[in-house]
Amino acid sequence: NEPLLKDMSLLKKAGYINGQWVNAKNGKTFDVINPASGDVIASVADLGKDEAKTAVIAAENAFLDWRKITAKQRAILLRRWNDLILENQEDLARLMTFEQGKVIMESRLEIAYAASFIEWFAEEGKRMNGDIIPAVANDRRQLSIKQPIGVVGAITPWNFPSAMITRKCAPAFAAGCSFVCKPAAETPLSALALCELAERAGLPPGLLNVIPSTQAQEVGDVLTKDPIVKKFTFTGSTPVGKHLLAQCASTVKKASMELGGNAPVIIFEDADLEKAVLGALGSKYRNAGQTCICANRILVQENIYNDFLKAFTEKVSEFILGDGLNENNTMGPVISEQAVHKIQALVDDAKAKGATIVTGGAQTQGQFFSPTIIADVTEDMRLFSEEIFGPVAPVFTFKTEEDAIKMANDTPFGLAAYFYSRDIGRVWRVSEALDYGMIGANEVGITSEVIPFGGWKESGLGREGSACGIDEYLEIKYICMGGL
Ligand code: ADP
Repeated sequence: NEPLLKDMSLLKKAGYINGQWVNAKNGKTFDVINPASGDVIASVADLGKDEAKTAVIAAENAFLDWRKITAKQRAILLRRWNDLILENQEDLARLMTFEQGKVIMESRLEIAYAASFIEWFAEEGKRMNGDIIPAVANDRRQLSIKQPIGVVGAITPWNFPSAMITRKCAPAFAAGCSFVCKPAAETPLSALALCELAERAGLPPGLLNVIPSTQAQEVGDVLTKDPIVKKFTFTGSTPVGKHLLAQCASTVKKASMELGGNAPVIIFEDADLEKAVLGALGSKYRNAGQTCICANRILVQENIYNDFLKAFTEKVSEFILGDGLNENNTMGPVISEQAVHKIQALVDDAKAKGATIVTGGAQTQGQFFSPTIIADVTEDMRLFSEEIFGPVAPVFTFKTEEDAIKMANDTPFGLAAYFYSRDIGRVWRVSEALDYGMIGANEVGITSEVIPFGGWKESGLGREGSACGIDEYLEIKYICMGGL
């Protein structure tokens, strides 16, 4: 039996506060489960509000020194951290698949994606330019500078256990801020392995703190209400995001929210059908359908509906379901038993209201849900309005471009939307008409560290990645120099 990791010291079971590995005072732990087998992988320290508070204080101390060094000095350390993550890509990927379930190829890609934010923001940190403003009077000079906001609190989800942390902490560190994160209780091991590598890279104690915990509410209270924390950033579901945003109001914290989506993939009659089928496939079933930008509704123009459905069904039948650590498998389990039930309830609702299950439609075994296509879906079914977060593709029909846009926009969400068309006029029109923060026209692989990731409407606030991403961690200071 080969060991899970080449470097077993990346498997950490304690929290990480002020550069120390910390267990709960009462010895409390919680189990991390491999979703492919149901086996317990590790028992991890279950920290609470006291440890969160300790971490916030450590982060404040670290911030006082970190903000004083130059952006270039910060970049040198961040670059080292980036390199160590890439050197340990295989171990980190295996650890991720072990606790999260996604197939190993996707885990490798996520580790590279996670590192890319560190490389990118290490560079961006050197370009936090201010402005010299033409003065309104001769005896004065007016300017603005950008400064780090301070201690950052973060709560992150299980679907991207590494990238959702680095997408937040890399711009924070580059800007000069420190960071306290509560990762999802399903996937703390990926977060803790990042801490081990941050320490090896030489990031100072207290800069990055990770609080593994099942006490989300209590730790969330500290991160959203403590006046020392100046910025709160969250990725997760819309209801939890709304609740945390409301809590941030008590201290008027700057907040970023990456929340749920209800992404349409619109396939027009003039689309390259083969590309559209592959696009819908990739967008829908990546991470077993568990991403906030996964296709949630596939809208197909009526005259190509049958052709699309046939080709799409053929492709979906090729998936091999199984343990993500086995290179042959192309789809892993979903995150929990509860997730299986939630997905099943959405499928059953559609079935009861007259939809047709084309393929799949049920749990196969354990936490595996068969890749599913549902046809004859209508807008009164829950699948139209709710985020599925599982490998279920509901296919709708539409008649005209106007109908498609109306259907696509008929949701409180506005994260990502995709469409396929070869008509350049339509590409412009539809791109501009969709009320979404991110549009994929003839492309579904739209994310990377260089683009502004974020949603409109109830899908979120703020942007991550790109040149904008660092602004979320900066304050603008206007300085007026008079009497010159
Ligand atoms: P998901 O459906 O992806 O699990 P959640 O919004 O429930 O979405 O979880 C995202 C993150 O929010 C996780 O780290 C989870 O522990 C945390 N979380 C869930 N509920 C709360 C809460 N009431 N207060 C603070 N954090 C929470």
